[in-house]
Amino acid sequence: MIDYEYKKPESLDEVFALLKNCGSQAKLIAGGTDVLIDIKHRKIEPEVLISLRGLNDLQYIRKEDDYHIGAMTTHAMLEHSELVEKELTALQQGAAQVGCVQLRNVATIGGNVCNAAPSADSAAPLLALGARVVLQGPNDRREVEMADFFTGPSATTKKDDEVLVELIIPGDMEKYGSSYCKHSRRKALNLPIIGVAGAIKLNSDNTISDVKIGLTVVAPTPIRALPAEEFLVGKAFTDDVLTEAGKRAAEPDCCMPRDSLRCEGWYREEMVRVLIPRVLKQAAGNL
Ligand SMILES: Cc1cc2nc3c(=O)[nH]c(=O)nc-3n(C[C@H](O)[C@H](O)[C@H](O)COP(=O)(O)OP(=O)(O)OC[C@H]3O[C@@H](n4cnc5c(N)ncnc54)[C@H](O)[C@@H]3O)c2cc1C
Repeated sequence: MIDYEYKKPESLDEVFALLKNCGSQAKLIAGGTDVLIDIKHRKIEPEVLISLRGLNDLQYIRKEDDYHIGAMTTHAMLEHSELVEKELTALQQGAAQVGCVQLRNVATIGGNVCNAAPSADSAAPLLALGARVVLQGPNDRREVEMADFFTGPSATTKKDDEVLVELIIPGDMEKYGSSYCKHSRRKALNLPIIGVAGAIKLNSDNTISDVKIGLTVVAPTPIRALPAEEFLVGKAFTDDVLTEAGKRAAEPDCCMPRDSLRCEGWYREEMVRVLIPRVLKQAAGNL
C-alpha cells in the first residue's frame, strides 16, 4: 500500500476546506470498498484520504413529500428498511445483493453511485425509480437526474469539489410496483452479468399508465430502456406486449453490450429480452 494521510472531518464545511487545500492529491472515501481496492492495485495514488465517515447526518432514509436517502446510508440500512422494502422494492433488492453481509455493513449508496461502475447494483433500481442525485459544492447545491449523472465507466458529472449528499426519489413512486433482477453466476460476492430494474404503474383497466426500466452492464453507463418504456405506455399489460418491449430494449438503439470476461455481448442482449418481461411482472406483483 502507498502512504497517505487520513483526515476525518466532522462537517461538510471541513470537507470543502480540505478539498480546497489538498487539490487533486485528495480522494474522498466513504466505506472504502472501492477506494481501497483501487489504491491497492495502484489505479489511484492519493496523498490524502478525506473520510466522510464523520458525517453521521448523511445517514438516513426519510419519506417526506419525496423519499430522501443520505449518501452515507449503507446497503445494509437499505436492505433492512421496511419502508424501502415496501415502497421502493427494487432498491431494497439491489442493496441486498451487493457483495456480502460484511461489505453491505460498510459500503454506502453514495459510494456505489459515485464509483459509477457500469455494473453497480444500486444504479438500475435508482434509474427505474426516477432518482435524482443531490450534489453539494462549497458555494451551491444542485440536483441532477440519475439518467444524466453517469457519463462513462467510472465517470460522472460530479465536479471535484462536490460531495454527493443525498438521493431523492419522487414521492409519486409509492404508486408504482418495482423489482430488480441481478443476473450473475453465483448469489454472493459477484457483480451482475446484467442488471434489470423496472417500476410500473397500472390503470384500473390493466393498461400501463407509466413504466421506467433501468439496465446495467449493457452499455458504458447504466441506462434507461427508453424505447421499451415508450412502447409500453398506454398498452395492455399482457405477455405479448411485455415480450415486444424486451425485444425493443435489446435493439442497438438502446443496448450496446460488449464481450467481457464474465460473458459475451450476445448473451447479455438475449437476457435483456428475457428479463424485462420477468422483472415487469414481478414489479406489477409488488403494486
Ligand atoms: C469484494 C467486493 C464485492 C463487491 N460486490 C459488489 C456488488 O455485488 N455490487 C456492487 O454494485 N458493487 C460491489 N462492490 C463494489 C463496492 O462495494 C460498491 O460500489 C460500494 O457501494 C462502494 O461504496 P463505498 O462506500 O465503499 O465507496 P468508496 O470506496 O468509499 O468510494 C467509491 C467512490 O465514490 C467516491 N465517493 C464515495 N462517497 C462519495 C460522496 N458522498 N460524494 C462524492 N464522492 C463519493 C469515492 O471518492 C470513490 O471514488 C464490491 C466490492 C468488493 C471489494
